Amino acid sequence: MQDNIKIVKTDINSKNGQDKCPKCGSTDISLNPNTGKLRCNFCRYEFVEEKVTGLEEDISKLEGKVIGSGSKNINSNNDNVITLKCESCGAEVVIDTSSKTQSRCHWCRNILSINKQVPNGIIPDMVLPFKITKEEAEKQINDFVKKKTFFANKNFKKEFTNKNIIGVYFPYVIIDINSHCNFKGLGEHSTDDTYIERLPINSPTKGYYSADLYEITRDFDLTIEGLTVEANSDKLNNFSKEKTNNIINSIMPFDIENCVKYNSNYLKGFNSQKRDINIYDLKNIVKMQTKDIARFSLNKTLDFYDRGVYWQQEILDIKGEQWKTAYLPVWLYSYQQVKGNKKILHYVAVNARTKEIMGSIPINFPKLLIVSSIIEIIGFFMMLYIDFDYSFIFLSLGIIYFLVMFLRYRNLNARYEYEKESKIKISNLKSIDNYVRHEVDLKDSKMTSANNQDIAGKVLDNQELNKLFEIKTDVDIEKK
Ligand SMILES: [Zn+2]
Ligand SMILES: [Zn+2]
Repeated sequence: MQDNIKIVKTDINSKNGQDKCPKCGSTDISLNPNTGKLRCNFCRYEFVEEKVTGLEEDISKLEGKVIGSGSKNINSNNDNVITLKCESCGAEVVIDTSSKTQSRCHWCRNILSINKQVPNGIIPDMVLPFKITKEEAEKQINDFVKKKTFFANKNFKKEFTNKNIIGVYFPYVIIDINSHCNFKGLGEHSTDDTYIERLPINSPTKGYYSADLYEITRDFDLTIEGLTVEANSDKLNNFSKEKTNNIINSIMPFDIENCVKYNSNYLKGFNSQKRDINIYDLKNIVKMQTKDIARFSLNKTLDFYDRGVYWQQEILDIKGEQWKTAYLPVWLYSYQQVKGNKKILHYVAVNARTKEIMGSIPINFPKLLIVSSIIEIIGFFMMLYIDFDYSFIFLSLGIIYFLVMFLRYRNLNARYEYEKESKIKISNLKSIDNYVRHEVDLKDSKMTSANNQDIAGKVLDNQELNKLFEIKTDVDIEKK
Protein backbone atom coordinates (compact mmCIF):
# COMPACT_ATOMS: atom_id res chain seq x y z
CA MET A 1 0.00 0.00 0.00
CA GLN A 2 2.80 2.43 0.91
CA ASP A 3 4.32 2.51 -2.55
CA ASN A 4 0.94 3.23 -4.02
CA ILE A 5 0.50 6.87 -3.05
CA LYS A 6 -0.96 9.09 -5.70
CA ILE A 7 -0.76 12.81 -5.13
CA VAL A 8 -3.35 14.83 -7.02
CA LYS A 9 -2.33 18.37 -7.72
CA THR A 10 -5.21 20.53 -6.54
CA ASP A 11 -3.81 23.99 -7.29
CA ILE A 12 -3.50 23.67 -11.06
CA ASN A 13 -3.98 27.10 -12.72
CA SER A 14 -3.73 28.84 -9.36
CA LYS A 15 -1.45 31.83 -9.43
CA ASN A 16 0.21 34.15 -6.97
CA GLY A 17 -0.05 37.88 -7.45
CA GLN A 18 -2.98 39.96 -8.64
CA ASP A 19 -6.13 37.89 -8.87
CA LYS A 20 -8.33 39.89 -11.19
CA CYS A 21 -12.07 40.17 -11.84
CA PRO A 22 -12.68 38.40 -15.17
CA LYS A 23 -14.84 41.31 -16.29
CA CYS A 24 -13.14 44.57 -15.29
CA GLY A 25 -9.72 43.50 -14.00
CA SER A 26 -10.12 44.89 -10.48
CA THR A 27 -8.35 43.02 -7.66
CA ASP A 28 -10.92 44.01 -5.07
CA ILE A 29 -12.87 40.74 -4.86
CA SER A 30 -14.64 39.16 -1.91
CA LEU A 31 -17.27 36.59 -1.06
CA ASN A 32 -20.95 37.49 -1.24
CA PRO A 33 -22.44 35.29 1.50
CA ASN A 34 -25.93 35.76 0.06
CA THR A 35 -24.93 33.67 -2.94
CA GLY A 36 -21.76 31.88 -1.85
CA LYS A 37 -20.07 33.37 -4.93
CA LEU A 38 -17.11 35.67 -5.36
CA ARG A 39 -18.07 39.25 -6.16
CA CYS A 40 -16.06 42.05 -7.74
CA ASN A 41 -16.49 45.01 -5.43
CA PHE A 42 -15.88 47.37 -8.32
CA CYS A 43 -18.24 46.21 -11.09
CA ARG A 44 -20.37 43.80 -8.95
CA TYR A 45 -19.79 40.90 -11.33
CA GLU A 46 -20.23 37.53 -9.58
CA PHE A 47 -18.36 34.34 -10.38
CA VAL A 48 -17.22 31.07 -8.79
CA GLU A 49 -13.89 29.34 -8.49
CA GLU A 50 -13.63 26.07 -10.42
CA LYS A 51 -13.96 22.68 -8.77
CA VAL A 52 -10.92 20.60 -7.97
CA THR A 53 -10.36 17.99 -10.65
CA GLY A 54 -8.39 14.75 -10.65
CA LEU A 55 -9.63 13.37 -7.36
CA GLU A 56 -11.61 10.13 -7.50
CA GLU A 57 -15.33 10.84 -7.45
CA ASP A 58 -16.57 7.25 -7.67
CA ILE A 59 -15.42 5.99 -4.29
CA SER A 60 -16.15 2.35 -5.21
CA LYS A 61 -13.30 2.67 -7.73
CA LEU A 62 -10.83 4.09 -5.23
CA GLU A 63 -7.60 2.10 -4.94
CA GLY A 64 -4.48 2.64 -2.87
CA LYS A 65 -3.84 5.99 -1.24
CA VAL A 66 -4.83 9.21 -2.95
CA ILE A 67 -3.88 12.54 -1.41
CA GLY A 68 -4.62 16.10 -2.44
CA SER A 69 -1.44 18.14 -2.86
CA GLY A 70 -2.80 20.60 -0.27
CA SER A 71 -2.85 17.81 2.31
CA LYS A 72 0.85 17.01 2.31
CA ASN A 73 2.84 17.02 5.55
CA ILE A 74 3.51 20.38 7.13
CA ASN A 75 7.14 21.40 6.85
CA SER A 76 8.12 23.40 9.92
CA ASN A 77 11.42 24.48 8.36
CA ASN A 78 9.61 26.11 5.53
CA ASP A 79 10.27 29.80 4.92
CA ASN A 80 6.84 31.35 5.29
CA VAL A 81 7.69 34.71 3.78
CA ILE A 82 6.94 35.12 0.10
CA THR A 83 7.88 38.24 -1.83
CA LEU A 84 5.79 39.12 -4.86
CA LYS A 85 6.38 41.76 -7.48
CA CYS A 86 3.26 43.86 -8.03
CA GLU A 87 2.26 43.59 -11.68
CA SER A 88 0.90 47.14 -11.75
CA CYS A 89 3.67 49.23 -10.20
CA GLY A 90 6.59 46.82 -9.81
CA ALA A 91 6.85 47.28 -6.06
CA GLU A 92 7.86 44.33 -3.90
CA VAL A 93 5.13 43.09 -1.60
CA VAL A 94 5.99 40.77 1.28
CA ILE A 95 3.39 38.29 2.53
CA ASP A 96 3.99 36.24 5.66
CA THR A 97 2.06 33.07 4.83
CA SER A 98 2.21 31.80 8.41
CA SER A 99 -0.77 34.02 9.14
CA LYS A 100 -2.30 35.31 5.91
CA THR A 101 -2.41 34.81 2.17
CA GLN A 102 -3.24 38.32 0.95
CA SER A 103 -1.75 41.78 1.16
CA ARG A 104 -2.40 45.17 -0.38
CA CYS A 105 0.35 46.82 -2.40
CA HIS A 106 1.37 49.92 -0.43
CA TRP A 107 1.90 51.95 -3.58
CA CYS A 108 -0.92 51.19 -6.01
CA ARG A 109 -3.44 49.68 -3.55
CA ASN A 110 -3.98 46.54 -5.64
CA ILE A 111 -4.47 43.31 -3.69
CA LEU A 112 -1.96 40.49 -4.08
CA SER A 113 -2.91 36.92 -3.23
CA ILE A 114 -1.13 33.64 -2.59
CA ASN A 115 -3.22 30.91 -4.19
CA LYS A 116 -0.50 28.33 -4.84
CA GLN A 117 0.00 25.85 -2.05
CA VAL A 118 2.65 26.54 0.60
CA PRO A 119 3.95 23.62 2.73
CA ASN A 120 2.80 25.15 6.04
CA GLY A 121 -0.79 24.01 6.14
CA ILE A 122 -2.34 27.38 5.37
CA ILE A 123 -3.68 26.51 1.92
CA PRO A 124 -5.92 23.44 1.79
CA ASP A 125 -7.08 21.59 -1.30
CA MET A 126 -10.52 23.12 -1.16
CA VAL A 127 -12.76 25.68 0.47
CA LEU A 128 -16.47 25.63 1.15
CA PRO A 129 -17.66 29.26 0.97
CA PHE A 130 -19.94 30.87 3.56
CA LYS A 131 -23.52 30.80 2.37
CA ILE A 132 -25.34 32.12 5.43
CA THR A 133 -25.06 35.85 6.06
CA LYS A 134 -23.96 37.30 9.35
CA GLU A 135 -27.47 38.70 9.92
CA GLU A 136 -29.06 35.26 9.49
CA ALA A 137 -26.52 33.72 11.87
CA GLU A 138 -27.08 36.50 14.42
CA LYS A 139 -30.80 35.89 14.36
CA GLN A 140 -30.35 32.15 14.80
CA ILE A 141 -27.93 32.54 17.68
CA ASN A 142 -30.29 35.02 19.29
CA ASP A 143 -33.25 32.61 19.01
CA PHE A 144 -31.14 29.77 20.39
CA VAL A 145 -30.00 31.74 23.43
CA LYS A 146 -33.46 33.25 24.10
CA LYS A 147 -34.91 29.76 24.53
CA LYS A 148 -32.41 29.06 27.29
CA THR A 149 -32.49 32.08 29.57
CA PHE A 150 -34.29 30.80 32.67
CA PHE A 151 -31.30 28.93 34.09
CA ALA A 152 -28.64 30.94 32.31
CA ASN A 153 -25.80 32.44 34.31
CA LYS A 154 -26.55 36.06 35.36
CA ASN A 155 -23.40 37.59 33.89
CA PHE A 156 -23.96 35.76 30.65
CA LYS A 157 -27.49 37.14 30.38
CA LYS A 158 -26.18 40.63 31.02
CA GLU A 159 -23.25 40.40 28.63
CA PHE A 160 -24.72 38.37 25.79
CA THR A 161 -24.94 40.17 22.50
CA ASN A 162 -25.29 38.42 19.20
CA LYS A 163 -23.36 41.30 17.62
CA ASN A 164 -19.93 39.93 18.35
CA ILE A 165 -20.13 36.77 16.32
CA ILE A 166 -17.31 36.00 13.93
CA GLY A 167 -17.09 33.99 10.74
CA VAL A 168 -14.32 31.39 10.87
CA TYR A 169 -12.99 28.95 8.32
CA PHE A 170 -11.84 25.92 10.29
CA PRO A 171 -9.47 23.37 8.71
CA TYR A 172 -10.72 19.82 8.24
CA VAL A 173 -9.46 16.59 6.77
CA ILE A 174 -11.98 14.88 4.51
CA ILE A 175 -11.58 11.17 3.95
CA ASP A 176 -13.19 8.81 1.45
CA ILE A 177 -12.91 5.09 2.06
CA ASN A 178 -13.45 2.11 -0.21
CA SER A 179 -13.46 -1.05 1.88
CA HIS A 180 -14.40 -4.67 2.14
CA CYS A 181 -15.80 -5.81 5.48
CA ASN A 182 -16.33 -9.15 7.11
CA PHE A 183 -18.16 -9.28 10.42
CA LYS A 184 -18.83 -12.45 12.40
CA GLY A 185 -20.73 -12.81 15.63
CA LEU A 186 -23.73 -13.99 17.61
CA GLY A 187 -27.26 -12.66 17.64
CA GLU A 188 -30.21 -13.23 19.94
CA HIS A 189 -33.89 -13.22 18.97
CA SER A 190 -36.51 -13.24 21.74
CA THR A 191 -39.01 -16.04 21.73
CA ASP A 192 -42.56 -16.42 23.04
CA ASP A 193 -41.71 -18.54 26.03
CA THR A 194 -40.35 -15.47 27.80
CA TYR A 195 -42.28 -14.87 31.02
CA ILE A 196 -42.24 -12.48 33.90
CA GLU A 197 -42.86 -13.66 37.41
CA ARG A 198 -44.36 -11.28 39.93
CA LEU A 199 -42.92 -11.83 43.36
CA PRO A 200 -44.99 -10.83 46.41
CA ILE A 201 -45.31 -7.30 47.82
CA ASN A 202 -43.17 -4.45 46.56
CA SER A 203 -40.22 -6.48 45.39
CA PRO A 204 -39.23 -5.92 41.77
CA THR A 205 -40.46 -8.33 39.16
CA LYS A 206 -38.09 -11.01 38.08
CA GLY A 207 -37.84 -11.74 34.42
CA TYR A 208 -37.04 -14.96 32.74
CA TYR A 209 -36.27 -14.45 29.15
CA SER A 210 -35.73 -16.92 26.37
CA ALA A 211 -34.12 -16.46 23.02
CA ASP A 212 -32.90 -18.20 19.92
CA LEU A 213 -29.19 -17.88 19.42
CA TYR A 214 -27.79 -17.49 15.91
CA GLU A 215 -24.36 -17.36 14.40
CA ILE A 216 -24.19 -14.43 11.97
CA THR A 217 -21.88 -13.39 9.20
CA ARG A 218 -22.07 -10.20 7.14
CA ASP A 219 -19.70 -9.87 4.23
CA PHE A 220 -19.96 -6.63 2.20
CA ASP A 221 -18.35 -3.81 0.33
CA LEU A 222 -18.63 -0.43 1.98
CA THR A 223 -17.84 3.04 0.70
CA ILE A 224 -17.75 6.07 2.95
CA GLU A 225 -17.80 9.46 1.33
CA GLY A 226 -16.58 12.59 3.08
CA LEU A 227 -15.80 11.49 6.61
CA THR A 228 -14.74 14.76 8.20
CA VAL A 229 -12.26 15.26 11.06
CA GLU A 230 -10.89 18.46 12.61
CA ALA A 231 -7.37 19.27 11.39
CA ASN A 232 -6.38 21.70 14.09
CA SER A 233 -5.05 20.26 17.35
CA ASP A 234 -6.89 22.87 19.37
CA LYS A 235 -10.29 21.91 17.97
CA LEU A 236 -9.64 18.17 17.73
CA ASN A 237 -9.92 17.78 21.48
CA ASN A 238 -13.68 17.48 21.69
CA PHE A 239 -13.66 16.82 25.40
CA SER A 240 -11.55 19.76 26.45
CA LYS A 241 -12.46 21.14 29.86
CA GLU A 242 -11.56 24.71 28.93
CA LYS A 243 -13.37 24.99 25.62
CA THR A 244 -16.67 23.55 24.47
CA ASN A 245 -15.16 22.22 21.24
CA ASN A 246 -17.81 19.51 21.00
CA ILE A 247 -20.26 22.25 20.06
CA ILE A 248 -18.33 23.03 16.89
CA ASN A 249 -17.94 19.32 16.19
CA SER A 250 -21.68 18.74 16.46
CA ILE A 251 -22.74 21.09 13.64
CA MET A 252 -21.26 18.73 11.05
CA PRO A 253 -21.85 17.44 8.42
CA PHE A 254 -21.22 20.03 5.73
CA ASP A 255 -22.24 19.75 2.06
CA ILE A 256 -18.61 19.15 1.13
CA GLU A 257 -19.54 18.11 -2.41
CA ASN A 258 -19.90 21.85 -3.05
CA CYS A 259 -16.29 22.65 -2.14
CA VAL A 260 -14.32 24.62 -4.71
CA LYS A 261 -10.64 25.13 -5.38
CA TYR A 262 -8.90 27.31 -2.80
CA ASN A 263 -8.89 31.02 -3.56
CA SER A 264 -7.73 33.62 -1.01
CA ASN A 265 -10.60 35.94 -1.91
CA TYR A 266 -13.07 33.56 -0.25
CA LEU A 267 -11.35 34.25 3.08
CA LYS A 268 -11.34 38.03 2.87
CA GLY A 269 -13.19 39.52 5.85
CA PHE A 270 -13.31 36.18 7.67
CA ASN A 271 -11.08 34.58 10.27
CA SER A 272 -9.38 31.32 9.57
CA GLN A 273 -7.44 28.77 11.52
CA LYS A 274 -4.49 26.99 9.97
CA ARG A 275 -4.15 23.22 9.74
CA ASP A 276 -1.42 22.05 12.16
CA ILE A 277 -1.93 18.29 11.96
CA ASN A 278 -0.49 15.92 9.39
CA ILE A 279 -3.16 13.74 7.90
CA TYR A 280 -1.48 10.48 8.86
CA ASP A 281 -1.51 11.49 12.51
CA LEU A 282 -5.26 11.06 12.21
CA LYS A 283 -5.12 7.55 10.83
CA ASN A 284 -6.00 5.83 14.13
CA ILE A 285 -9.01 7.94 14.79
CA VAL A 286 -10.12 7.58 11.17
CA LYS A 287 -9.75 3.84 11.44
CA MET A 288 -11.84 3.71 14.60
CA GLN A 289 -14.52 5.91 13.09
CA THR A 290 -14.55 3.86 9.89
CA LYS A 291 -15.13 0.71 11.89
CA ASP A 292 -17.93 2.40 13.85
CA ILE A 293 -19.57 3.42 10.58
CA ALA A 294 -19.27 -0.12 9.24
CA ARG A 295 -20.76 -1.56 12.44
CA PHE A 296 -23.70 0.86 12.38
CA SER A 297 -24.29 0.34 8.67
CA LEU A 298 -25.19 -3.27 9.47
CA ASN A 299 -27.79 -2.52 12.11
CA LYS A 300 -30.60 -2.27 9.62
CA THR A 301 -29.86 -5.86 8.55
CA LEU A 302 -30.18 -7.01 12.17
CA ASP A 303 -33.80 -6.14 13.01
CA PHE A 304 -34.53 -9.80 13.69
CA TYR A 305 -32.02 -9.81 16.55
CA ASP A 306 -34.09 -7.69 18.92
CA ARG A 307 -31.94 -8.67 21.92
CA GLY A 308 -28.74 -7.51 20.23
CA VAL A 309 -25.72 -8.78 18.38
CA TYR A 310 -22.26 -9.49 19.68
CA TRP A 311 -19.60 -9.10 16.98
CA GLN A 312 -16.64 -11.35 17.73
CA GLN A 313 -14.73 -10.45 14.63
CA GLU A 314 -14.76 -7.18 12.68
CA ILE A 315 -12.45 -7.24 9.68
CA LEU A 316 -12.20 -4.07 7.69
CA ASP A 317 -9.95 -4.22 4.68
CA ILE A 318 -9.30 -0.80 3.17
CA LYS A 319 -8.94 -1.12 -0.60
CA GLY A 320 -8.70 2.57 -1.29
CA GLU A 321 -8.54 5.80 0.68
CA GLN A 322 -8.56 9.42 -0.37
CA TRP A 323 -7.45 12.29 1.84
CA LYS A 324 -8.06 15.95 1.19
CA THR A 325 -8.14 19.09 3.29
CA ALA A 326 -10.65 21.92 3.27
CA TYR A 327 -11.71 25.09 5.02
CA LEU A 328 -15.31 24.78 6.18
CA PRO A 329 -17.35 27.82 7.29
CA VAL A 330 -18.69 28.39 10.82
CA TRP A 331 -20.37 31.40 12.46
CA LEU A 332 -19.18 31.47 16.02
CA TYR A 333 -20.19 33.23 19.21
CA SER A 334 -17.86 32.73 22.17
CA TYR A 335 -18.31 33.62 25.78
CA GLN A 336 -15.68 33.23 28.44
CA GLN A 337 -17.01 32.25 31.82
CA VAL A 338 -14.67 32.84 34.76
CA LYS A 339 -15.29 30.57 37.75
CA GLY A 340 -12.72 31.31 40.41
CA ASN A 341 -9.44 30.44 38.73
CA LYS A 342 -11.16 28.29 36.13
CA LYS A 343 -12.09 29.60 32.74
CA ILE A 344 -14.51 27.96 30.36
CA LEU A 345 -15.02 29.12 26.83
CA HIS A 346 -18.61 28.53 25.76
CA TYR A 347 -19.46 28.46 22.08
CA VAL A 348 -22.63 28.85 20.10
CA ALA A 349 -21.88 27.73 16.55
CA VAL A 350 -23.83 27.85 13.31
CA ASN A 351 -22.97 25.76 10.29
CA ALA A 352 -22.69 28.48 7.64
CA ARG A 353 -24.05 26.12 4.96
CA THR A 354 -26.82 24.07 6.59
CA LYS A 355 -27.75 26.49 9.42
CA GLU A 356 -27.44 23.69 11.94
CA ILE A 357 -26.90 25.27 15.35
CA MET A 358 -25.58 24.11 18.71
CA GLY A 359 -24.42 25.91 21.81
CA SER A 360 -23.27 25.76 25.38
CA ILE A 361 -24.93 28.21 27.78
CA PRO A 362 -23.31 28.82 31.19
CA ILE A 363 -25.67 27.87 34.01
CA ASN A 364 -26.86 29.72 37.09
CA PHE A 365 -26.23 26.79 39.43
CA PRO A 366 -27.82 28.19 42.64
CA LYS A 367 -31.07 28.74 40.76
CA LEU A 368 -31.02 25.29 39.13
CA LEU A 369 -30.29 23.69 42.52
CA ILE A 370 -33.19 25.50 44.20
CA VAL A 371 -35.68 24.51 41.51
CA SER A 372 -34.40 20.90 41.46
CA SER A 373 -34.69 20.73 45.27
CA ILE A 374 -38.29 21.95 45.16
CA ILE A 375 -39.05 19.23 42.64
CA GLU A 376 -37.25 16.72 44.84
CA ILE A 377 -39.43 17.72 47.84
CA ILE A 378 -42.60 17.41 45.73
CA GLY A 379 -41.33 13.97 44.67
CA PHE A 380 -40.89 13.01 48.32
CA PHE A 381 -44.53 13.84 49.12
CA MET A 382 -45.69 12.05 46.01
CA MET A 383 -43.89 8.97 47.25
CA LEU A 384 -45.67 9.19 50.59
CA TYR A 385 -49.18 9.82 49.30
CA ILE A 386 -49.43 8.12 45.96
CA ASP A 387 -50.26 4.45 46.13
CA PHE A 388 -48.02 2.86 43.56
CA ASP A 389 -45.71 -0.14 43.86
CA TYR A 390 -42.66 1.75 42.66
CA SER A 391 -43.36 5.05 44.36
CA PHE A 392 -39.67 5.24 45.40
CA ILE A 393 -38.85 6.39 41.88
CA PHE A 394 -40.45 9.77 42.72
CA LEU A 395 -37.35 10.36 44.81
CA SER A 396 -35.26 10.63 41.65
CA LEU A 397 -37.42 13.37 40.07
CA GLY A 398 -35.28 16.26 41.32
CA ILE A 399 -32.05 14.59 40.20
CA ILE A 400 -33.45 13.77 36.78
CA TYR A 401 -34.69 17.35 36.39
CA PHE A 402 -31.25 18.67 37.30
CA LEU A 403 -29.49 16.44 34.77
CA VAL A 404 -31.94 17.12 31.97
CA MET A 405 -31.65 20.88 32.41
CA PHE A 406 -27.87 20.71 32.77
CA LEU A 407 -27.56 18.87 29.46
CA ARG A 408 -30.13 21.11 27.79
CA TYR A 409 -28.06 24.19 28.57
CA ARG A 410 -24.54 22.86 28.32
CA ASN A 411 -24.98 20.22 25.59
CA LEU A 412 -21.90 18.37 26.83
CA ASN A 413 -23.02 15.26 24.98
CA ALA A 414 -23.52 16.97 21.62
CA ARG A 415 -21.25 15.66 18.88
CA TYR A 416 -21.16 14.81 15.20
CA GLU A 417 -22.80 11.39 14.93
CA TYR A 418 -20.56 10.27 12.09
CA GLU A 419 -21.60 6.64 12.63
CA LYS A 420 -25.13 7.55 11.51
CA GLU A 421 -24.71 10.72 9.46
CA SER A 422 -21.94 9.74 7.06
CA LYS A 423 -22.67 9.17 3.41
CA ILE A 424 -22.27 5.43 2.90
CA LYS A 425 -23.07 2.78 0.36
CA ILE A 426 -23.23 -0.96 1.01
CA SER A 427 -22.97 -3.39 -1.87
CA ASN A 428 -22.47 -7.13 -2.46
CA LEU A 429 -23.91 -7.91 0.93
CA LYS A 430 -23.82 -11.60 1.78
CA SER A 431 -25.65 -12.57 4.95
CA ILE A 432 -25.42 -15.90 6.73
CA ASP A 433 -27.68 -16.57 9.72
CA ASN A 434 -27.31 -20.01 11.28
CA TYR A 435 -29.49 -21.21 14.14
CA VAL A 436 -27.37 -22.48 17.04
CA ARG A 437 -29.66 -23.23 19.98
CA HIS A 438 -32.58 -22.16 22.13
CA GLU A 439 -31.68 -20.41 25.38
CA VAL A 440 -33.97 -20.25 28.43
CA ASP A 441 -33.96 -18.57 31.86
CA LEU A 442 -31.95 -15.56 30.73
CA LYS A 443 -31.86 -12.88 33.40
CA ASP A 444 -31.62 -9.79 31.20
CA SER A 445 -34.08 -8.43 28.68
CA LYS A 446 -31.18 -7.63 26.30
CA MET A 447 -28.14 -9.60 25.24
CA THR A 448 -25.54 -8.60 27.84
CA SER A 449 -22.52 -8.81 25.56
CA ALA A 450 -24.16 -7.01 22.61
CA ASN A 451 -21.77 -4.55 20.98
CA ASN A 452 -23.50 -3.67 17.71
CA GLN A 453 -24.34 -0.18 19.07
CA ASP A 454 -20.85 0.50 20.46
CA ILE A 455 -18.99 3.60 19.36
CA ALA A 456 -15.23 3.59 19.80
CA GLY A 457 -14.02 6.63 17.88
CA LYS A 458 -15.97 9.37 19.64
CA VAL A 459 -13.97 9.67 22.81
CA LEU A 460 -10.82 11.58 22.25
CA ASP A 461 -9.69 12.80 25.63
CA ASN A 462 -6.42 14.53 26.40
CA GLN A 463 -4.54 11.33 26.98
CA GLU A 464 -5.54 9.89 23.65
CA LEU A 465 -4.81 13.18 21.98
CA ASN A 466 -1.28 13.16 23.36
CA LYS A 467 -0.84 9.61 22.15
CA LEU A 468 -1.98 10.75 18.76
CA PHE A 469 0.88 13.19 18.45
CA GLU A 470 3.45 10.68 19.61
CA ILE A 471 2.67 8.41 16.71
CA LYS A 472 5.46 8.59 14.20
CA THR A 473 4.02 8.84 10.76
CA ASP A 474 4.94 5.67 8.95
CA VAL A 475 4.61 7.26 5.57
CA ASP A 476 6.61 10.34 4.77
CA ILE A 477 4.72 11.86 1.92
CA GLU A 478 7.27 14.60 1.33
CA LYS A 479 9.80 12.06 0.11
CA LYS A 480 7.55 10.55 -2.49
ZN1 LIG B 1 -15.11 43.65 -11.91
ZN1 LIG C 1 1.44 47.94 -6.85
